Amino acid sequence: MVNAEIIAVGSELLLGQIVNTNARFLSQQLADIGINVFYHTVVGDNPDRLKTAIEVAEKRATMIIFTGGLGPTKDDLTKETIAKHLGKKLVMDEVALQSIEDYFKRTNRVMTENNRKQALVLERSHILPNGHGMAPGMVAEDNNHIYMLLPGPPKEMEPMFLQYGRQALTSKNDAQEKIVSRVLRFFGIGEAALETEIIDLIDSQSNPTIAPLAGDGEVTLRLTAKHVDEKIAHSMLDSVENLIRLRVGKYLYGYDDTSLLAELSRTLKDGQLTITAAESLTGGLFQQHLTSIAGASSVFKGGIVCYSNEVKQQVAQVKQETLEKYGAVSEQCATELAENTARIFATDIGISFTGVAGPDEVEGKPVGTVYIGIAVKGRPTMVEKISLAGTREANRNRAVKYGCYLLLRYLKESQNTK
Ligand code: ATP
Ligand code: MG
Repeated sequence: MVNAEIIAVGSELLLGQIVNTNARFLSQQLADIGINVFYHTVVGDNPDRLKTAIEVAEKRATMIIFTGGLGPTKDDLTKETIAKHLGKKLVMDEVALQSIEDYFKRTNRVMTENNRKQALVLERSHILPNGHGMAPGMVAEDNNHIYMLLPGPPKEMEPMFLQYGRQALTSKNDAQEKIVSRVLRFFGIGEAALETEIIDLIDSQSNPTIAPLAGDGEVTLRLTAKHVDEKIAHSMLDSVENLIRLRVGKYLYGYDDTSLLAELSRTLKDGQLTITAAESLTGGLFQQHLTSIAGASSVFKGGIVCYSNEVKQQVAQVKQETLEKYGAVSEQCATELAENTARIFATDIGISFTGVAGPDEVEGKPVGTVYIGIAVKGRPTMVEKISLAGTREANRNRAVKYGCYLLLRYLKESQNTK
């Protein structure tokens, strides 16, 4: 099986002046044509270290793809270093030279001697024309390896790869397997707990593979399948997704690039449901997020930011007795906030957030205690108490995500029992 290593050449990458977007682009492209990329390497404009990087790559990859260092200046030495390493000569490519000369004539500039250097190519290599710059790319082969050299600037490298490079590699990849992947997004379950539920599946699967990733209160699983027939690859993903759903389906809320908020907004729109919010610790964050989605006006009417107890009482009509007896951070207060706000704004749904964002505790309740109330017309009001353990900002953000998740789940449940 062929596999590839991408070597990006350029000291500016090592200095952190630019990001290695070439590796990302090429990795995506190679995945698309079924070639495994096992390593990304970055090396500076230094011939000795580049030579070492080539020797290392030759031990572990069959295709080595270089970007950068094909330019006219002294620090551009990718070609020269590879030529020396392979014992190949650099020869003038007349077609490339002609196109460089034309380029200078067209732009009315004087060509210098070092520009000729850009038309030098590895002997017996396959040339990849540069439609957006001067230096041609090339593909050279020796006994066991394929070397592809591409220019550094993405606006030259990307079109060159798409137009010529991709085909050159596809023809070397006998299996021509397609790789397809799907991301499953979960909320309300931690990474460790999710992994425990499906660890036997993760361990026993090699095609499709199942890779967990956690971040920002969410866990995702990336499923990746390979097959020469893309349709079959997709059905392999379906099968393993079904197995996963049987175990942890209730935490699954969406696929690929979606978000909790996008899913919630879509569900509200589809159900023609209107919503309002009463927010204490989140100070309007839920409403801000909801209105950041285009088309929010069809579902969101407005809401209340009720940070102080006076506003909870006077605007959101929470009973004084409730605040005195149970406090503002309580199930009772969350219930009244959700129900009253839905009534005041005449919406189908009211959601409330009240809790302790931190850094100090409130009413003797610890930092991170949050009550989320959900009042849906014709259904019993639901309150969930959650305990968060982050900073003030993280707790506020997490509370909003939780609210979206709980409401989504509640709406799905009511759909199912209809
Ligand atoms: P040039 O003819 O422009 O000198 P080159 O092939 O010699 O092209 P480099 O000199 O290595 O390429 O890089 C030129 C520019 O291309 C960099 O300054 C940077 O903007 C961009 N570049 C190079 N490598 C990468 C990379 N790996 N990812 C993203 N951009 C890159
Ligand atoms: Mg250069």
